[in-house]
This record gives sequence, structure tokens and C-alpha cells, in this order.
Amino acid sequence: MPLDLEKLAKILNMEAQDQYQDRKVYRGLAAFIANWTNAAIKSGPSGDEARLIELVSQRLMDYASLSQSARERYIQEILAEVSLPGKIAAPVSRPSATVGTAKTAPNPARAVASRPDETKTMAALPLRSAPTAAPDSAPAPTRQVATTLRKKPVAGEKVDLGMPLEKVKGIGPTYAKLLEFIPLRTVHDALYYFPFRHEDYSSMKKISELMYGQTESVEAKVIDVAGVRTRGGKELIEVVVSDETGMLKCLFFNRKMTYGLKPGTRVRLSGKVEQWGGQICLKSPTFEPAEKEKTNTGRLVPVYHTSDPVKLHTLRRHIKACVDQYAAYLPEHLPEPIQTRNNLVDIITAVEQYHFPDNEDSQKAARKRLAFDEFFLIQLGVLMKRKEWQDERHAAPIKADPGLLNEWYNHLTNLMTKDPQKPFQLTDDQRKAIYDVLADLGKDRPMRRMVQGDVGSGKTMVAATALLMAVSAGFQGTLMAPTQILAEQHYQGLSRLFTSFAETEAVKRRGLNIRVTLLTGNVKKKEPIYRQISNGEVEIIIGTQALIQEGVEFNRLGLVITDEQHRFGVMQRSTLKDKGDTTNPHVLSMTATPIPRSLALTIYGDLDLSVIEQMPPGRMPIKTKWVMPPDRYKAYNFIRKEIEKGRQAFVICPLVEESEKIEAKAAVEEHAHLQKEVYPDLKLGLLHGRMKPAEKDAIMADFRDRKYDILVSTSVIEVGIDIPNASVIMIEGADRFGLAQLHQFRGRVGRGQDQSFCLLLATDDLSEEGQKRLKIIEDTNNGFVLAEADLKLRGPGEFFGTRQSGVPDLRVAGVNDTGLLELARTEASALFEIDPDLSHPEHALLAKKVAQLWNVEGDLS
Ligand code: ADP
Ligand code: MG
Repeated sequence: MPLDLEKLAKILNMEAQDQYQDRKVYRGLAAFIANWTNAAIKSGPSGDEARLIELVSQRLMDYASLSQSARERYIQEILAEVSLPGKIAAPVSRPSATVGTAKTAPNPARAVASRPDETKTMAALPLRSAPTAAPDSAPAPTRQVATTLRKKPVAGEKVDLGMPLEKVKGIGPTYAKLLEFIPLRTVHDALYYFPFRHEDYSSMKKISELMYGQTESVEAKVIDVAGVRTRGGKELIEVVVSDETGMLKCLFFNRKMTYGLKPGTRVRLSGKVEQWGGQICLKSPTFEPAEKEKTNTGRLVPVYHTSDPVKLHTLRRHIKACVDQYAAYLPEHLPEPIQTRNNLVDIITAVEQYHFPDNEDSQKAARKRLAFDEFFLIQLGVLMKRKEWQDERHAAPIKADPGLLNEWYNHLTNLMTKDPQKPFQLTDDQRKAIYDVLADLGKDRPMRRMVQGDVGSGKTMVAATALLMAVSAGFQGTLMAPTQILAEQHYQGLSRLFTSFAETEAVKRRGLNIRVTLLTGNVKKKEPIYRQISNGEVEIIIGTQALIQEGVEFNRLGLVITDEQHRFGVMQRSTLKDKGDTTNPHVLSMTATPIPRSLALTIYGDLDLSVIEQMPPGRMPIKTKWVMPPDRYKAYNFIRKEIEKGRQAFVICPLVEESEKIEAKAAVEEHAHLQKEVYPDLKLGLLHGRMKPAEKDAIMADFRDRKYDILVSTSVIEVGIDIPNASVIMIEGADRFGLAQLHQFRGRVGRGQDQSFCLLLATDDLSEEGQKRLKIIEDTNNGFVLAEADLKLRGPGEFFGTRQSGVPDLRVAGVNDTGLLELARTEASALFEIDPDLSHPEHALLAKKVAQLWNVEGDLS
């Protein structure tokens, strides 16, 4: 059967016409290539054909992950080969000598093919996975190795899961030392060190049954190990193995990796079946001695994050040792009825099967149980924290003064309306949030409310109104911002508002003082401002959180507002208790990070939530554009034009996950590059996470004061900063950021009267998910819509474990677990109704688990 070159050419041409978008072929071009190659190998290719097959598979097997330019280059290269008349079109056998004369780019296959003993070896090997090869002659009884050596717990036997790993049989002190790098110290650590995925090596085959492109396992005897050199001078190790149905070549690119493959030994090998010079082979397969229990091969194999010097296959062995010997001693913390109701497996099965699953179904069941646990424990913790806070102490009720409130609204209208045709009006959502807050303030339970509203939705008005009501009821109020510059910004805005309001009849009649002060890092402890605060000579104190912690004495603190802030952690809470004499102050938090509704109740479950979804009228939506790499210079020019109009710009550098140090370095380089090569005539500022807070504040202040035209920054650029003159933000490596974060960045602009722009730059070989995300952010300006989209695309993990959320991270739960979250939430609330302190004896283990999780990882203990 000849090679079907016509079909190959047709499909590739079609793909070229479609601009290499990989959308013409059902399941993608790579799937077609896999099928085509499979058939081609079976057709008994000549040397030249084999070379072409090799080329096609090498170039296009991973088509979906290739960059646009690579796609084009490779397809054109192959099309040129295919269309060379008389070159390979005919399926005539050619002497293998012609193989070496091929004109394609460096191809290691040629080096191998030109080995003198090549013909001999080849002849001995089964050339292909032809279906006729042997299946009926060899019934292929796969030898079953015992899958588990699970230790059965002896009744009453106590085992300490906190035992150090060096005591574990099969690990020992030397390896235990290495495992500390992961870091794993105890058996418990190892049991809860979960894989992030599994490799499916469960398909055990005979050599003759191997299918090109599939991931398979074989058990075979090592026949020969030989090193050869490729033309590039690199060493290539060929290991030939055989079973009763044929021989198979395995290629390794590093001699160290073949350690343990001595001729005569029986091994089990797993890997993807590829091809080499027209023959199927395994490249760098995973293997282990056949008589050993299946750990690294022949099953669903866990893949763990690991780091030098711990090799993945060693880590697997050690974790398996722990699972086999100790998982059975894990105590069950989840009450039985909850397990039954929600169809959850027990904890022992879950841990065992999540590491080393018997099959996909049991892995899924294990995952479900562990993901449920995560949500359930977080939710219980959240509920307990809420109760603790509210039980602890009473709050002094702050009764709103309705008359004053009315005057305040009138005042705002007069103050803020420049166009008398369009009087300033609080949006309905702002009013609703204010209403919620005032209702809370009137109670003798301390308020714990979060106002969540997109950037620019007008949260400050809610804060200002609450502060005013606190002051009119005779209390002091504070507003805390995460940075100095944000605190200053609030101080300026609020002083203006309150100073003008203090001059109105309504305030004068009441003899009300509304004095605002800013407590900055520059203020010395001795200065009068501290005394004024403690004497009650100022009513509203604005500052950063750190300042409030540093021993400021209040006179009568009734309300604490935190803006763009991590919720209150344990430290702040205990200091606040001291501030509010015998009562707890009411606490209001404000955040611009939208959380999908389905998650809000868990993530902010210890808080009451008010959402501002409406934007004040007349806001011009920011125009967002995803810029393709070739158009980078257009983007640079666009920024220049804006600056020529008198505007300013932000440039955000890509996220570098390894470390802040590397990220800072990248930003320094980007800044230097832009300053030197692109904008030599403009003033460019630089901001990154390795700078001291004061340094950062100074840079931001300079930017605000227009000392720079462009600010180059890493992702540290803070939320909430108001620079109305900045009209364009360019985000490099936009695909690396989550939607929520992109949206936050975008909120840095669009605060003035002018049209603002957001330019997104990304590499050209974006994953499908990356492309989707950029399209979504291009199309929508609504933070909540984006948050929902983020949840769908990246799962709830994006929203847990962040600084903003203050709740523990998710390790197991993923993209599709939002439904599970609902179940866990319902169960947690039900349990909480019955036993709010988890003091019933049957909940003792559960209480311990919750405490563990929140103490170690949470911030609210
Ligand atoms: P954020 O929610 O991001 O903190 P701000 O409170 O800083 O938003 O408000 C953004 C801008 O919108 C401010 O200039 C503010 O004066 C203005 N603003 C707030 N509420 C309204 C409203 N109801 N109508 C018009 N403008 C408003
Ligand atoms: Mg704000």
C-alpha cells in the first residue's frame, strides 16, 4: 500500500489556507497526523518514505502547541518535500543508502540510520505494529503483579503519623534528608502530598500490539544496550528489548537514564509509542524491574511536583511506601452520615486511590472526597471564625441620624454636580450598600461586612457615609489603606468632602465636629496628632494598617474601615480589641476583587456581603485591544500619541512566577530597553516588588505629579491608585495573568474624563484557554462577568488562597468542582447548626482538622 501523500498534501494545504489556525480538521491536525503516520508506518515504507514519515511526525505531532510561525514553517517544509516530483511519490523500495542523502534540516535519524550494523539490527526488529503481527498466536497473558501490599491495621494499634520519614521502611535516613527539599518530613506530610495529575500507563501490551501514538506499557527482557553518536555529537543510547512477540527499540538521550537496564534483566517499560526511522520505538520510557510492584510503570502513575535532588520515580517509591504502610491508619474525620449522603469514599480509600489509583473511576472518587474535604473544612473554619468574632464582645451600636443623612445626600448633590441638568445621584447599589452598613452599625453585634464593587464603582462614598454616621453618634472612625499613597489620596478626597459639609447649617446646628487627620509614617510618636487622637480632638483618622497596629490610642473607636485590603487577620483583631476598650469596633472591608457568587459565601463566608455592581453614570468604558506581536510597534506609537496629547501610560511587565527577584530584574531590563530603544526622549519611571514601600510610594507620587510619562511596573502596581491623567495601560505577557488581575490592572486607567485604552500583548503561541481569556477581557468591562468566566476556565483555585481571600489554598479541588463546593457548604452549615463549636465528641477529629488547616495556612485563627 503506497503512502497517501495526496491526502497529506491536501490536508496541509487546507490548513495553510486557513492561516494555520488548527480548526479545519476534526480533533485537530495533530490527530490527523497521528492517524496518517500510523497508517504510513504500516504500509511498509521505503527509506525515503520512512524519512518523510519521521519528518512529518517530528514536526507536526504536537501541532496544537506550536507557535503560528512554527506551524507555517513546518507545514511549508513538508509540503516542499511532498511535492518534489519523483522524490518520494512512488512507493518503490529504495536502497537504504539514499537515506543519508536527504536534504532536510538536521535530522538525527540519519546518523542512526547510517550505522554500519543498521541493516542487521533492523531486520531483527518487528518493523511495524501490523495488526496481523501476532495477536492470535500469542494470547498475551499479562502477568499480574500484586497491586497492593496494604498493611492491615491491627485493632487498637496506635501509629503516629507524625513519625519522621527516616523511620519508614524503604526510605531510611539518607533519602529522608533529600525529601526535606520537597519539603516532606513526616508520614503525614507524604500522605497528603498529592499528585497534580496521573500518567496513564495502565495499558499493558505485547510488543507486537503496540500502536503508534498511544501511551503503552510492555514487559520485556533487555537484549542489548548500545551507545551511538548522533551527527550533532550527542550520545544516544539504544536499548533493545524483546518479548515473545517481537523486539522493540528504546532510545535514551542520557546514559544515566539507562541505569538498571542490563542485558538479561526483565523490565516493565511505559511511554508513548513514537517512531524512529520508520520503526516504532519508545523514547526515554519510564521503567522498573518487572518483579517490583507497579509503582512507576504499568498503571495509573501519579505525577508529583518535585525538585532537585529528588527524582520523580524515587519520590513515587517513597510515597508509595508511606501509602502502603500507613494510609490505613488515617483516622476518619468526616462524620459518617455526611459521607453516605454525598456518596463519598472513606479517607483511607481516598488517600490511597488518589496517589495510586486502581483505575480512573476510583481516582475520580478519591478526588471527589478530597476536594469535598477541602471545601468543607474551609467552610467550617469560616463559620467558626464568624461566630467567634461575634460572640467575643459586644459592639456599641451606632444609630444613624436620618436628618443628617438627608442633609448629607443633598450636600453631595450640590457639591458634585457641575452640570445642573444631571444632578449627582448615588447609584441604587451604592444606596443599598449604605443601607446594609447602617443597619449593621445600629446593632450591638460588631459589623463584619464586605463591600465588593468593581474599580470605580464608588465604594468610597459608602465608607464616607458610614464614617459620618459614626462621628455624628459620637465615635471615632478610621479608614485604612494598604499603602501610603492610597491613604493620602483618601485623606485629600475625604477632607475636602467633610470640610465643606462641616460648613453647612445642618452640621453647625448640631454642633458637630468632623475633623479628619492623616497619620503617616513620617509622623513621630511624640507629635500632637497622637494626643489629638487619644483626646478625641479628631474624629476621622486615615492611615495605613501598620500605623494603626503601632500603638495608637483612640478615644472612642467605633468603626474601622479597610480599603482594598486583605480581610482582618489575627494580629489586627487582637490589637483592635485593645483599641475599642470593652467593645469590638464595627468593621467594614472594601474590595474591588469580584468573586463569583457561587464562591462568595465560602470565601467571604465569615462576612456579610454587599455588592455594588452598577457603575456611576457617564463612565466611559475602557477600550481594550489584544495586540498581535507583529503590531507591537503600533502599540508603542499609540502610547506615544497619547503622551503627546498630554496623557500618561503604564506598562506592566509579564508575571514571572519563579521569584520576585527575577521579576524585578525583568522589569529593570524592560525599563532600560524602552527608555533606550523606544522612548529615548520621554521620562520613564520604574516600580517593582524589590523596592522598599517608601521608595514605591515616592515613585507613584512622582508619577501622579507627572514627573514621568510612562511608568514601567511589575504586577506590584497597587489597586485603587487614582491617576486620572493616565489614559493607556499596556500589559506585556497578558496571557500569564488571570482575568481578575488583568481587570485590576485595567482599572488603573479610565479614571479621568478622556477615553482610556488597555493594550494586551501576548506570545503568538497561546493555548486555547489563553486565547479565550484574552478575547473575554477584550469584550467585557464587567468584573463580575470576568470573575465568572475565570471560574469556568481556571476553576475555584484562582480565588482561594490569595492574599485577598485570606482563606486556605486548594490543593485538590479544581475546575469542575464548583458544584461540590455547594454540597460542602450545605453540609457545613447543617453541621454548624447542631454543633457550632465542634465540641461533640464525635466531631473532635474534625475540630482538629479545621484548626490544623486554618492555623497553618489561614490568617484568621
Ligand atoms: P472605587 O469603588 O474604585 O473606590 P471611588 O469611590 O474611588 O471608586 O469612585 C470613583 C469615582 O467615581 C470618584 O471620582 C467618585 O467621586 C465618583 N463617583 C462615586 N459615586 C458616584 C456617583 N453615584 N455618580 C457619579 N460619580 C460617582
Ligand atoms: Mg477605592
